[in-house]
Amino acid sequence: MNRKTTIATVGIFAACLTLVAARVATQDGMISPGTTQADARKLLQAGNKRFVEGGMESHTWQQEQVVKTGAEGQIPSIGVLSCADSRVPVEIIFDMGVGDLFVNRVAGNFESQESSGTFEYGVHALGVHTIVVLGHTKCGAVSATLAGKPLPGNMGMLTAAIRPGLEQLIKEKGAKSEAALLDAAVEANVRFQMRQVDATSELLKKAHAEGKIQVLGAIYDVDTGKVRFLD
Ligand SMILES: [Zn+2]
Repeated sequence: MNRKTTIATVGIFAACLTLVAARVATQDGMISPGTTQADARKLLQAGNKRFVEGGMESHTWQQEQVVKTGAEGQIPSIGVLSCADSRVPVEIIFDMGVGDLFVNRVAGNFESQESSGTFEYGVHALGVHTIVVLGHTKCGAVSATLAGKPLPGNMGMLTAAIRPGLEQLIKEKGAKSEAALLDAAVEANVRFQMRQVDATSELLKKAHAEGKIQVLGAIYDVDTGKVRFLD
């Protein structure tokens, strides 16, 4: 990005931020569930508890949210980097609705320039203050990375992005059962991609260092529906 483009982009972000601030001030309540960084994890955990226990609330009043967010815009404060796996529908598992979460989904939930550019927009223009890297058990993309076989088409891109976080585990292959190895690899991938948020983006790295964003890691269990946050 040259200097002129950078200045123009920062200008657009600044204009968006002004709009966001005006919107927040005129709203009677926040659309987004995570009003502070400290709230974010608790709100997601409470939503996941409702999902697991069958007491979901969000999906009973979405029409109102469509009208509200359509008219007033979005101010999501929680971004999620999740796998594309159909068993991990992010809004459903956290019992969130329209306008609540800013979600990037790609097989293997790995950070890339595309997802990092998306989060940069979320942080600088929409007020996202929390990024959750969400892995899940029995992940096919992580499993394929462990298997290490060449994949056709563009699928090799996925495993190439995941592999650097699994090098140590791949060396220790054989010391664990297949299921235990996959569980460990899913967690290692989440931890690696959390570091990649900073490594891929100067803007996010700066925002992180300044405390404007926090990066959390979590794993969704496809058998129980429960989300476990990493310490
Ligand atoms: Zn997956």
